[in-house]
Amino acid sequence: MLSLNSHPTGNHFLQIPGPSPVPDRLLRAMSLPTIDHRGPEFAQLGRRVIEGMQRIFGTAQPVVIYPASGTGAWEAALCNTLSPGDKVLMYETGHFASLWHRMATRLGLDAELIAAPRADEWLPQAGHWRHGVDADFIEARLREDTQGRICAVCVVHNETSTGVTSDIRAVRAAIDAARHPALLIVDTISGLASADYRHDEWGVDVTVSGSQKGLMLPPGISFNALSQRALEASRAARLPRAYWDWEEIVAMNSTGYWPSTPNTNLLYALAEAIEMLEAEGLDHVFARHQRWAAGVRAAVTAWGLPIQCADARCHSPVLTGVITPAGVDADALRRVIHARFDLSLGTGLGKLKGRMFRMGHLGNINDLTLIAMVAGVEMGLRIQGVPLAGSGVEAAMQVFRETH
Ligand SMILES: *Cc1c(COP(=O)(O)O)cnc(C)c1O
Repeated sequence: MLSLNSHPTGNHFLQIPGPSPVPDRLLRAMSLPTIDHRGPEFAQLGRRVIEGMQRIFGTAQPVVIYPASGTGAWEAALCNTLSPGDKVLMYETGHFASLWHRMATRLGLDAELIAAPRADEWLPQAGHWRHGVDADFIEARLREDTQGRICAVCVVHNETSTGVTSDIRAVRAAIDAARHPALLIVDTISGLASADYRHDEWGVDVTVSGSQKGLMLPPGISFNALSQRALEASRAARLPRAYWDWEEIVAMNSTGYWPSTPNTNLLYALAEAIEMLEAEGLDHVFARHQRWAAGVRAAVTAWGLPIQCADARCHSPVLTGVITPAGVDADALRRVIHARFDLSLGTGLGKLKGRMFRMGHLGNINDLTLIAMVAGVEMGLRIQGVPLAGSGVEAAMQVFRETH
């Protein structure tokens, strides 16, 4: 626990890939008084955040906002569209895809977790989670399903456990090429508002997202963006649901209200975040994250350490996973860096525990925040005796100096 006595000076460097550092402007917005969620001012706030989130998702269809973490919105996406025993195809990009699969199984779905076999997984400590979704593999699996038993294809857009961003357009094209009626359900909990995402244009039926990553809010709210097909599916879907049910929420949202108490103060922050993102322009926001990611990757490459994502086409703009050499415990490294430099890095999740760490480049940060992060990691690596090929700080500075 933090105590005032032991709190270090200066600002903590929260460089985990979510929760991300929250802009002061959002924290100030959250400190406004909580208002009557059935009162007249509330409807204005409610409509503003729903319409704003439709623009952020790139959709003209309903967006449902839950007072829940992303995991709640995962459950909502499944239980609103599917029935007990329904077959769903899920793709193993990493730990989050695996957790979502476990949830689907617990909910009583016949969930199949697939992963294309890879020949280039030569690093034993990389845990085979080094690639994005292989859309051809999904197409082949759907073509085999001649009886149309697969009801949904579920993929993670930005796999936060590895730093791999998959091509959702290609997944849509694969479903269409197989002429398969399955719904497309996508988790972009950590991608939205940092990585390019277009719900309607890419033909996604349900998009799941959360507040504490690209949107820069504290944790506590999450989203389902819907399609007309998803709404139709929800009318026939028989998985038990009550709190998560879209119908009542969508109906009440048209007036700017919710059936139960929404997270009012987080909605203030959400309205402010949408304003900030739109004032900058979403295309600029996406380009900014790509540039940051390029600087951080240049640092890792200069150190001579492998990046968890083995495919240059799907490096995440949001975070970079770094594989530590065999025998170097990534969590021990993270502990040293935290203790010495007040810098938090993401841990290796699931089968990557101890084998890699994650550097976040999202939220309320700038070039110099990232130089500080890279410097903290570089010092930590040297303290732990990891041999480095060169200076990551120098490499990142060069990228940031030469691009803008
Ligand atoms: C963070 C995250 C989740 C889980 O969200 P919670 O808010 O922790 O419940 C799921 N999927 C992805 C890709 C994530 O990044």
